[in-house]
Amino acid sequence: MTQAEIITIGTELLLGETLDTNTRYLAQQLRHLGVDLFRATSIGDNPLRIAEMIRESLSRAEIVITTGGLGPTIDDPTRNAAAIAFNVEMDFHADLWKEIYRKFQVRGAIPSDNNQKQAFLPANAVAIHNPVGTAPAFYIAEQKKLLVCLPGVPAEMKTIFQHEVIPLLRGHFELHQLIKTHVIRTSGIGESVVDAQIADLETSSNPTVGLSAHPGCVDIRITAKANSSQEADRMIDVVEQKVISLLQPHIYGFDQDTLLEKVIELAANRGVTVTLFVFCAINELILFSNHTNNNVFEVKKLDRPYTPQQDLNLERRALLFAVNIYCQDDIATLDMFFTSPQKHAEKKKLFNNALPQLQKWMENTCLDFIRRQLSEVENGE
Ligand code: AMP
Ligand code: MG
Repeated sequence: MTQAEIITIGTELLLGETLDTNTRYLAQQLRHLGVDLFRATSIGDNPLRIAEMIRESLSRAEIVITTGGLGPTIDDPTRNAAAIAFNVEMDFHADLWKEIYRKFQVRGAIPSDNNQKQAFLPANAVAIHNPVGTAPAFYIAEQKKLLVCLPGVPAEMKTIFQHEVIPLLRGHFELHQLIKTHVIRTSGIGESVVDAQIADLETSSNPTVGLSAHPGCVDIRITAKANSSQEADRMIDVVEQKVISLLQPHIYGFDQDTLLEKVIELAANRGVTVTLFVFCAINELILFSNHTNNNVFEVKKLDRPYTPQQDLNLERRALLFAVNIYCQDDIATLDMFFTSPQKHAEKKKLFNNALPQLQKWMENTCLDFIRRQLSEVENGE
C-alpha cells in the first residue's frame, strides 16, 4: 500500500501558539484514500532542517505532503527548502507572478517586491493553482515519489487538497484501497478484561482490532483495508461477530451510539419511564447536570441517602433507580439500587476518588447499571 508522511512547517507550531490542525485533516483524508500514514512531523521555519526532513521522509514514503511556509516573507522557507532537498535552482514563473499581481489588483492593492518571491519555484516543481489565496502551492514528482507543498492557512490548504491534490495522488498512485472502521461500544467491563477476552483478535494485521478506554466504557475499533467497501464490510463483519459472541452482555452499541441514548431507547421500547434518584455526599460532584431533558429518563436529587425500604412514590409503570455516593479515604463508593414492581437489585462499585474523570465514570457506571437492568443482562464481572 502507498505510504505517506506529513511535514507541518511553522515555528508557531513548535512554540505552542498554533494548534496543528492540518495534520489531523490530512491524516483523515489520506486514510479515506487508503494511503498509509506512518509519520507526521512538525518543524520550525528553518530551510536546512526542512530540506533534511523532506529528504528523509521521501526516502521512506512515496508521498510527502508539507503545509506552511509558502508566504511572501523571508521566513517563509518551504520553496527554498524543497529546492535544497532536490539540489536544484529556483526558477521565476512569469505566469504565477501575473496571477499574483492580478489577485492583488482585484483587491485594489499592489503587490510588494516580497510577493514576487512567491512566483519562484524549485526548477523541477509544477505549480498548483491556488483559487483561494495568493501563495501558489506546488508539487515535485521524481523517481516515483511525490512531494506536495501546500499553504499553512487551513482553509486554503483544504480547498487545494480537495480540488487539486486528490486528483494528483490518484493520477500518480494506484489508490484503489480504502480503509473502513467500525466501533463496538462496551460498558461496565474493564479494559484489561476486554483485552484478555479478545487477545487473539488483537494480533490480526488486517483487520486490526484496537481498544480505547473511556471512563466506565471501552471501545473496540475494527479497521479493515480492502479494495472495495463491500469487501471491507465483509472482513469487519467476521471479526465483529467473534467480538459479539465473546462480549455480548457488555456491548451497548456501535459507532456513534451513546450509553444514555441506549438507556432511553431501552426504556422507550419497554414503554416505561426511568427515574434515577441521586444522593451524593461529595459536594463538588454533580451528576447528569446536562442531559436530563427527555420524556423517559429523569434524574432527581435526594438530600438524604436512599434506603430500599423508602417509599419514593413509585408511579405506575415507572422503574426506580437510586444511587448513593459516599467518599472515605480517597475511595468513592457507589451504591446502586433498582426497584420495580417485580424485582429488586443492588450493586456496589468502588473508585479511586482522585480519578480525574470521576464524574463521567460515575455517570457511565450508573447508566450501565440501568442498561443492564432494562435489558436484563447480568453484570459479568
Ligand atoms: P504559512 O503558510 O506558514 O504562512 O501559515 C499561515 C498561517 O496558517 C499561520 O499563521 C497559522 O495560523 C496557520 N497554520 C500554519 N500551519 C498550520 C497547521 N499545521 N495547523 C493549523 N494552522 C496552521
Ligand atoms: Mg509560516
